[in-house]
Amino acid sequence: MTPASRDALRTPLEAATLARVAWLVGMRWAFVAGLVLCAVAGRMLLPDLPVLPFLLLALLTGAYNTLAHFLNSRVAALPEERKQALVHALIQGQIIADWLVLLAVVHYSGGIESPLLQVFVFHVVLSAVFLRPRFTVFALLFITVALNLLFAAEATGLLQPVVLRGLSNPERQHSWLHILHFSLWHALTLAVMALLLGAVMRGLRRREAEALRMRHRLEQANRDILRISEERVRLMRTMGHELRSPIAAAQSMLSALELSQGPALPEAVRGIHQRISQRLLGLTALISELLELAEQRGSAAGQAVLRRVDLPPMLEALLADQMDRAREAGLALVGDWDGQAAHLAGADPLRLQRVCENLVSNAIKYSRPGGTVSVSLAAVEWDGAPWVEIRVRDEGIGIAPDQLPRLFTEFYRTPQSRRHTTQGTGLGLAITRELVESMGGTLGVESVLDKGSTFILRLPRLS
Ligand code: ADP
Repeated sequence: MTPASRDALRTPLEAATLARVAWLVGMRWAFVAGLVLCAVAGRMLLPDLPVLPFLLLALLTGAYNTLAHFLNSRVAALPEERKQALVHALIQGQIIADWLVLLAVVHYSGGIESPLLQVFVFHVVLSAVFLRPRFTVFALLFITVALNLLFAAEATGLLQPVVLRGLSNPERQHSWLHILHFSLWHALTLAVMALLLGAVMRGLRRREAEALRMRHRLEQANRDILRISEERVRLMRTMGHELRSPIAAAQSMLSALELSQGPALPEAVRGIHQRISQRLLGLTALISELLELAEQRGSAAGQAVLRRVDLPPMLEALLADQMDRAREAGLALVGDWDGQAAHLAGADPLRLQRVCENLVSNAIKYSRPGGTVSVSLAAVEWDGAPWVEIRVRDEGIGIAPDQLPRLFTEFYRTPQSRRHTTQGTGLGLAITRELVESMGGTLGVESVLDKGSTFILRLPRLS
């Protein structure tokens, strides 16, 4: 593994360790305050408590804590590779200094009888959780050996034991049996705790590393997918271009034939000519829609640019554009909105226009002469949120219930629509739904066969 990839795989837990120095410094200030409090308040309860050593230890701790704070700010400015090792050294140095101070505090608060002995438990827990396993083993050995040396020195009179009347027992401070019993239990408790915690932390770190590796693999796969999808769009574009050229050539040859020979062509040939012309138009539409779909699904499509869109003017322009087509098909095309507020939608104007065009154009295409196509607009509450609802309703051929679920699938065309018209690719609705979803909207349909269909488009409403 290269250093760079090792660095990239640094687990969040390790990264958190780097932030621990500042936390340690903060905790130590609390410890300094605790020492001063012990000295002052403890004296009231325990008249033998030596105040001066406590105050001196508080002063000493405050001094190296200030130094640690200063070094911490210096280390934070270093480049990442050097920071890692230095931060660990800084934490370990501080922790060892803490142990020495604690040893002194234990001594001045009653030695083996000191109630403060348990503080070492927190230190072993901290080491097991945040530091490397090697350092935890070192912590265990250091604390056990140092405490035993302290107790031995007190028992042999090398160090004058501090007897706090009411708290420590001078007999037990000099009893080797008591020292042995206590030391064994203390060391065993610390060791078992460190072992258990160490095992838990190792499992956690392994899982974290695994999760990170998975994340890297997923990111790589994602990049590959994007690259393949761009490749596909590029291929589709080239294909589209290559296909369009011969179609355009064929169309212009047909037009030339029509112009030069039009009236002279026999009726049957003219019919074939017309059918070829229509097929070529259909093919051009299919290529355009296929390209549109590929572009839309490719990474190059980009995010929808959502803006405030005032719907009535947009729909009015759309109806005006489609009016001729509707008239040619013998249909009435009407808009139905009341001009009240709540017609502002959060949408991408170009995408929304494409969506509405598609729905209105389908409604015209799949209607019979004499029918009406209407576009309505309303403010609705749905799922506890405000929406604008656009309904495009027709009285056309309708859709059978069993065909509704497949309607938005690419290339799907209902049997009725195939009978009704040969024009159609089955791609428009797939494109439309994806456009709607890219804007955070929804598209649904209600329909009764032979009676008509209503396409319901919902977009987030703005106030
Ligand atoms: P097409 O180019 O075939 O119209 P669309 O994707 O726009 O493609 O529509 C897919 C199919 O859904 C259509 O072929 C038709 O079968 C059905 N459809 C769409 N709109 C309507 C409608 N307003 N009334 C009835 N059927 C419809």
